[in-house]
Amino acid sequence: MSQVRGNLFILSAPSGAGKSSLIKALLEKHTNMQVSVSHTTRDPRPGEENTVHYHFVSQDEFKQLINNNDFFEWAQVFDNYYGTSKAAIEKQLDAGIDVFLDIDWQGARQVRELAPEVTTIFILPPSKDELQSRLTNRGQDSAEVIAARMEKAQSETSHYDEYDYVVVNDDFDTAREEIATIVAATRLRLSTQKRKHGALIDELLK
Ligand code: 5GP
Repeated sequence: MSQVRGNLFILSAPSGAGKSSLIKALLEKHTNMQVSVSHTTRDPRPGEENTVHYHFVSQDEFKQLINNNDFFEWAQVFDNYYGTSKAAIEKQLDAGIDVFLDIDWQGARQVRELAPEVTTIFILPPSKDELQSRLTNRGQDSAEVIAARMEKAQSETSHYDEYDYVVVNDDFDTAREEIATIVAATRLRLSTQKRKHGALIDELLK
């Protein structure tokens, strides 16, 4: 049987909704699933490794990648550029692996145009108070910094209704299982099953 192409997923969320931890937990629990490593012009944060968390590049390198048409999608997110390279996803999808894109609403809009079969998921924090406490670094940030983070979170959240599914990350394990359920349902979609079980369907209808 020829390899059935993997499914493409987008996970978007305001910062503080727990998206990175959810993706990590999903990848640990499920095989045949990978997250695409984006390119960015922002500086690495402590603990972040080049090629593992992001491909960290200069503005010039990023522009070169745009000019070479190497990006599947890219966007300016606040002060920095972020993009998904075609190479980061095509090989995995061709190998039958499901690929998660951890990208913002602007990237999600572009991917919907290019790959309408994409499954998109938006993650919400359980409350504004909880978000505020997750965005507050143990009292080390000024009120202005926290207010700016809350504003950015609200701006991303305002796009939640462009997505197929919404998951509230209140209880972590529940949210992880809900995303796993969306993945399982996507794998059973007619378009996927038709490709996967074409021979069986042909035989049954002969
Ligand atoms: P951070 O700097 O906190 O890692 O990410 C900031 C935002 O950029 C997040 O909303 C994240 O989803 C988004 N982002 C990360 N990589 C990409 C990408 O390749 N494309 C787009 N459009 N957004 C991205």
